[in-house]
Amino acid sequence: MNIGGNSTSSRYVVAVVGAAVAGSEVARILAERGALVFVFEQNARPYGKIEDGLPRWHVDQRREEYAKIDRRLSHANIYYAPLTRLGRDLQFDELADAWGLSAVILANGAWRDRPFPVEGADRYVGRGLVYQNSFIYWFNHYPEKTYSGPRYEIRPGTIVIGGGLASIDVVKVLQLEAALRALERLGIREDLLRLEREGIDPVLKSHDLTWPRLNLKPCKLYYRRTVLDMPLADIPGGADAKKVEAIRRAKIKILDKAQRKYLFDFQELSVPSGLIIEDERLAGIKIARTKVEQGRIQVVPASDVEHRAELTISSIGSIPEAIAGVAQNGEVYRYVDPKLGLLRDGRTAVFATGNVLTGKGNIKDSLDSAAETGVYVAERYLGLEPGGFEVGESERRLAREMGEAQAAMLAQRRPLNPARVAELLARVRERQGAVGYAGDYRAWIAKVLPPDLQ
Ligand SMILES: Cc1cc2nc3c(=O)[nH]c(=O)nc-3n(C[C@H](O)[C@H](O)[C@H](O)COP(=O)(O)OP(=O)(O)OC[C@H]3O[C@@H](n4cnc5c(N)ncnc54)[C@H](O)[C@@H]3O)c2cc1C
Repeated sequence: MNIGGNSTSSRYVVAVVGAAVAGSEVARILAERGALVFVFEQNARPYGKIEDGLPRWHVDQRREEYAKIDRRLSHANIYYAPLTRLGRDLQFDELADAWGLSAVILANGAWRDRPFPVEGADRYVGRGLVYQNSFIYWFNHYPEKTYSGPRYEIRPGTIVIGGGLASIDVVKVLQLEAALRALERLGIREDLLRLEREGIDPVLKSHDLTWPRLNLKPCKLYYRRTVLDMPLADIPGGADAKKVEAIRRAKIKILDKAQRKYLFDFQELSVPSGLIIEDERLAGIKIARTKVEQGRIQVVPASDVEHRAELTISSIGSIPEAIAGVAQNGEVYRYVDPKLGLLRDGRTAVFATGNVLTGKGNIKDSLDSAAETGVYVAERYLGLEPGGFEVGESERRLAREMGEAQAAMLAQRRPLNPARVAELLARVRERQGAVGYAGDYRAWIAKVLPPDLQ
């Protein structure tokens, strides 16, 4: 239950959009420093890409992250409003202007797949073309009894266009599912987790089988640069040339290990250049060769080859979804100060944090970004006392660097008066009531957690 401390005195009131890794962390930091925080989340559950992205074989990691998000959102100063999508149930202008909040923080992640780079391809979504986000969502959820989303048939020889870590997960899903289903046809029930952990070959061997005997064409991953350029390992800032080269070489090993364990094919220096359409379905992709010269990709003229497949999965990156009222700069939001994640200053400043700001799909980057935003907004922007709360030195880095330059903004910030605080609390409670949320976070989670959630 939200007890909110002295919620009818003057307070800062901040709205956070998105409740997952970044949203829950930024909300916790602000709440611990005394702000009231409204967290608007489009889904019933707050776990974002931990539940819907990180593949379900990461059993322990997902459970741990669920628990961390639950702990953060249970703070008495946080008002969770589930089933509330910005842009549908609540408009950006209402939140950022009409409500008169102290700040708005967008922690809504990157949920839009980057469009497939061949003109007209989107006509075939669901008819031979599938985007990564919906494919992984299906994989993570289809075992649940209540799952009612689209269902995908795994097809032999599926084409995957990608190259990042998430695309390796896509080819893993395809190969693991293909092996499980082939075994099922032979009357053998195997365990996904065992297959993922041990690799396909040893498990088949334990049943006196081999991959060639299953007679399955493997899926194939196509990447536009060379394996050395794949974003499979982070190169730390300040790394010298020797270290950079060592990390690049390590990528060959990472890919090789994944291929040996999961038996997928890989082709570097390849880009999609055309569609093969039959009976109003995507029946394959034309793939052209590329060369990389001084870091730039050049398509080799007249090098296109037809590759036929019943299914093509596009896994070329996720970008923030457009929100009416938030200015765009190409694929990303337009920032007044990208380092700070500041989208808009004024009476209610608007920030972005987590995956939406970093563009990096990993938990640690989202968490660090949220910690930096949280400390900055709380202590520098709103002037809340740091108190004795645990925040690591690195988490304070950005706040400290940018704090002085932005000190002028602080002067404009005053806590909202008690009448306005009460009015805002009434608004958020009205929304909570409309979706059947009674104010007790733990009770809500118990209600909306399917017993078979993976
Ligand atoms: C296939 C795959 C594998 C991955 N593997 C790893 C891995 O091994 N290790 C790792 O560290 N990371 C991995 N990641 C990435 C990691 O899961 C994410 O980068 C991280 O969890 C993002 O956290 P976030 O809070 O920034 O964003 P999200 O988790 O995307 O949270 C955004 C939240 O905002 C909500 N939201 C979105 N739009 C709206 C709106 N309009 N209104 C209200 N709410 C909204 C969403 O429902 C969601 O809850 C993987 C991702 C994928 C897809």
